[in-house]
Amino acid sequence: MKPFEYYAPETLEAAVEIMARYEEGVYPVAGGTDLIPKMRYGQIQPKVVVNLKRIPGLAEIVPQDDGSLKIGALATLTQVASSPKVRERYLMVAQIAGKMASVPVRNLATVGGNLCNAAPSADLAPPLIALDAEAVIFGPQGERRVPLEAFFTGPGQTVLGRGELLTAVVVPPPDPQARGTYIKHAHREALDIAIVGVAAWVRFEEGGSVCEDAHIVLGAVAPTPIRAREAEAAIRGAPLTEERIAEAGRLAAEAARPIDDVRGSAWYRREMVAVLTRRALFSVTISQ
Ligand SMILES: Cc1cc2nc3c(=O)[nH]c(=O)nc-3n(C[C@H](O)[C@H](O)[C@H](O)COP(=O)(O)OP(=O)(O)OC[C@H]3O[C@@H](n4cnc5c(N)ncnc54)[C@H](O)[C@@H]3O)c2cc1C
Repeated sequence: MKPFEYYAPETLEAAVEIMARYEEGVYPVAGGTDLIPKMRYGQIQPKVVVNLKRIPGLAEIVPQDDGSLKIGALATLTQVASSPKVRERYLMVAQIAGKMASVPVRNLATVGGNLCNAAPSADLAPPLIALDAEAVIFGPQGERRVPLEAFFTGPGQTVLGRGELLTAVVVPPPDPQARGTYIKHAHREALDIAIVGVAAWVRFEEGGSVCEDAHIVLGAVAPTPIRAREAEAAIRGAPLTEERIAEAGRLAAEAARPIDDVRGSAWYRREMVAVLTRRALFSVTISQ
């Protein structure tokens, strides 16, 4: 590892001020579970590392007045998995946070790190996008918010500009008529990266089986997590029958743009998108 400058600011403003000084080579660090291995293996060589852990408030999970939930960027996976505020409102998010990586990694790894690392396989992205979460960004020009769906611009790339940090994600109030699930397909149950991940969120008509709205989000099968919008349209406004679910699976597979890599071929990934989309939609229908 090459030497680098290290800062541990105690306010958000100080962190942003330090980061904005540099055009490139400056990396914030939260849990370090993505950043430190990349540094160790020489994949990145930071000139400056800015530790965010001393900034108060960034790890809090706080219900907002409008019923939404603000999850601080520095909240760890363990915190998210065990938080009653997350579990009661967005069970699929708590469940996947509690299954990612391993206990020691989950105790360090943060929500913000998972999203800002922007791996196409990042497990928190599909369920949070399916829930219509927003990214809260703080930088030299103050605070701005972007839909999480628009946060990712490519593998390892986000809309974050010079000096900007992700401070939180805000998840809209839970909808009592909606059900959601995230299915991760990996070679192993634990300590493995998704070959394919599919999140489905469906709002049903009150007391019925008609799907009023649907979000289907695919992970690990494109340069960024993506919404399968044609698949969503195919099930909106009608009962979720077996035929419509099969059609949604087919359309979701068509939306995928997977690559071949060590974890699976593009062909296999596409097939699994259809399978997991069907499985996710059956699952939300049954739990209705
Ligand atoms: C053994 C192991 C197993 C893993 N298993 C999984 C898994 O099952 N699923 C999965 O999705 N991931 C997995 N990961 C990857 C990693 O643990 C997660 O992505 C984790 O959530 C990253 O969080 P972190 O706080 O450690 O990020 P860090 O390493 O601190 O940061 C990651 C990146 O984000 C940037 N960053 C961090 N916080 C911010 C912020 N607030 N604002 C702007 N930029 C920021 C950093 O500069 C860096 O580029 C695994 C990693 C390991 C080592």
